[in-house]
Amino acid sequence: ARTPLMAGNWKMNFNHLQSIAFVQKLAWTLKDVQHDFEQVEVAVFPPFTDIRSVQTIIQADKLELEYGAQDLSQHDSGAYTGDISGEFIRTLGARYALVGHSERRTIHGEDDEICRAKVNAALRHELVPVLCVGESLEEREASANPADVSIKQLKAGLADVTPGTEIVIAYEPVWAIGTGQVATAEQAQEVCAALRGALAEQLGEETAAATRILYGGSVKPGNVASIMREPDIDGALIGGASLSIEDFSSIIRYRS
Ligand code: 13P
Repeated sequence: ARTPLMAGNWKMNFNHLQSIAFVQKLAWTLKDVQHDFEQVEVAVFPPFTDIRSVQTIIQADKLELEYGAQDLSQHDSGAYTGDISGEFIRTLGARYALVGHSERRTIHGEDDEICRAKVNAALRHELVPVLCVGESLEEREASANPADVSIKQLKAGLADVTPGTEIVIAYEPVWAIGTGQVATAEQAQEVCAALRGALAEQLGEETAAATRILYGGSVKPGNVASIMREPDIDGALIGGASLSIEDFSSIIRYRS
């Protein structure tokens, strides 16, 4: 069975001091409610400059919280001013790296080829890539099948991945990100099921069945339970609501 993953993407929020305060508070809150991390995995994705601080708190307090980077370079080292290597991220104890978040695709022009190279870079450095896919509103309206764009992005991003490799997919319809306009559980399930089918074609049934597919886009305490009831949705990638201890911890506890 796939362990649900609740992942908080902080985007460009919290400096390292704020991130320390946040992780400590989150840890107390989850301890208070005796959260079982084996039942629902929890991860945070801080800005690069916060990762060392988050690592220190997690190690000092022996927290079961996982963490990852919001991006990584497709290169390992060299003359790439401003870029961060997967090796640096892995050396900070991170388990995950987001690849191809829609904000990277649109603001930084990252295309499927770059995402493919970044997925490979993450795997080279023993990071689990969280490949983000999803259609814009225009793309949804222009295509007969709402899953087409996501399937294309998934196939391109995973082109060099071999069966049995641990990866995570995040389906984030662009029109639902930060808009308050959440996809309905049915809409999210439809695309996530299609993505699992595409995974099966590309990597085999076994890998498809083992791979976690998250939904992202305006996930809130009030809508998470219905989304998590869908059979092909194995967690959520949460933006805005992951910046509030109250909202994020209530999303993590969607079962209670
Ligand atoms: P919101 O939860 O703020 O809509 O952001 C979703 C997202 O982009 C997570 O990666």
